[in-house]
Amino acid sequence: AEKKWEFMVRARIPAGRLTAQQYLDLDDLAGRRANHTLRITTRQAIQFHGVVKSDLKGAIADINQTMITTLGACGDVVRNVTSLPAPVRSPINERLAADAKRISDHLLPHTRAYHEIWLDGEKVLGEPEVEPIYGTTYLPRKFKIGLGVPEDNSVDVLTNDLGIVALFDGDTLTGYNLAVGGGLGMTHNKPKTYPRLASFVAFVEPDDLIKAVEAVVIVQRDHGDRTNRRHARLKYTIDDRGLPWFKSEMDRVFGRVLEDPRPMPPFQVADHLGWHEQGDGLWYLGLPVPSGRIQDTDTVKLRTALHDVVGRFQPALVLMPTQDLILADVKDADRAEIERTLRAAGVQFPEELLPVHRWSLACPALPTCGLALTEAERIRTPMIDSIAEVMARYGLAQERLSIRITGCPNGCARPYAGDIGLVGRMPGHFSLYVGGDFECTRLNWKLLDRVPEDDVPETLAPLFAEFAAQRDQGEGFGDFLNRLGLERATALVKPDAPV
Ligand code: SF4
Repeated sequence: AEKKWEFMVRARIPAGRLTAQQYLDLDDLAGRRANHTLRITTRQAIQFHGVVKSDLKGAIADINQTMITTLGACGDVVRNVTSLPAPVRSPINERLAADAKRISDHLLPHTRAYHEIWLDGEKVLGEPEVEPIYGTTYLPRKFKIGLGVPEDNSVDVLTNDLGIVALFDGDTLTGYNLAVGGGLGMTHNKPKTYPRLASFVAFVEPDDLIKAVEAVVIVQRDHGDRTNRRHARLKYTIDDRGLPWFKSEMDRVFGRVLEDPRPMPPFQVADHLGWHEQGDGLWYLGLPVPSGRIQDTDTVKLRTALHDVVGRFQPALVLMPTQDLILADVKDADRAEIERTLRAAGVQFPEELLPVHRWSLACPALPTCGLALTEAERIRTPMIDSIAEVMARYGLAQERLSIRITGCPNGCARPYAGDIGLVGRMPGHFSLYVGGDFECTRLNWKLLDRVPEDDVPETLAPLFAEFAAQRDQGEGFGDFLNRLGLERATALVKPDAPV
């Protein structure tokens, strides 16, 4: 008998913006075509899991009916463009949301093949397809773009192939600092693969943004490694040839020498959970969604409650890069009923969560991801609970730190940027990374290679003890460990357990 293949289908949603109707349509699809869940990804997209092979074409056609596309959500092209989640009516937020859409539209492949295969579109005869940016070869590998501002690095802008940081003088956009060569994927035991944060390379004026983005993409198209997929991301092109070489190529394609990056304030990360006034008399609610999974469980009926709220109150929605969800454009008068409906369904509000829960991420891993070596999403809550217990022992229960868990080194939940990263190493074992920072301006480093899953919380105990006793005022956990250094941190923790 034929195997019952199951697929993941991902929808492309620039900056994570959805209308109420689009959300309801996607929710309907989750029930009809997938496993009755919607999953918010760390790149502000939606994934459906459990789409059976015989339903694949129907599912993709249905997604396109919602005016969303799966085109460019996977493959060797520019992926979903991420941006500031806050739906605040300010020139800054509106400009960035518009920029994300402009970049996404500009870099969407023009190919008709997608429509022919998946949507039964008419075959275009006689005219060769013209891909003005991708050419006939597309890109050597996937290409990620994120937008942020120094005041809100929610998207972890430096983890992208191209990170764009908008600089404002008051409400006036002065331009963008561009950073290139970020990317977190690596492979265990292959030292030539590694995570890297993007390097700032140039400043561009507001009207030059699209042309400069195109220049970066074209340099990678023409010079990225096409012989080895593990060495094909932009970060390797830059490290092989050097940032000055990249800048000169970028200038050549752009048509003139671009200005050096401008000074900017240090990155911060804004907290968008809970109720916030939008600036136009309306409100938005940032709702925690554990591991981004919108589903009904025995105790929490999140999917049903959201369907009810979105249907009745028609909010705009924003998928957050922290895998959480924003309900926007809410009238003051509707807030109490929305909150009552969600709480009655068992949904936790942010004030009920410890900071360590609020700021943790996990990729899907087992059972849906074929690359997973360990669990991630399914152990996230018990793992964070256990770590929180250890933190409480040292008076750190209210400490804000980020924990990111992935089932393999591919790094989908950005485990190499943040205070603590747990990366699936082999079944039942994680590599432990520490020493990054909450604002994601520095990579963390590997402290232990194989920690049994159950031992992770107690392995961290001596680090928390030292942090509680020795930290400088206001110093973050990752910053403290980075100051301590690998050698002293290693001396504090147990050596790797034998495996
Ligand atoms: Fe799958 Fe690895 Fe990505 Fe997790 S990090 S979703 S296990 S590829």
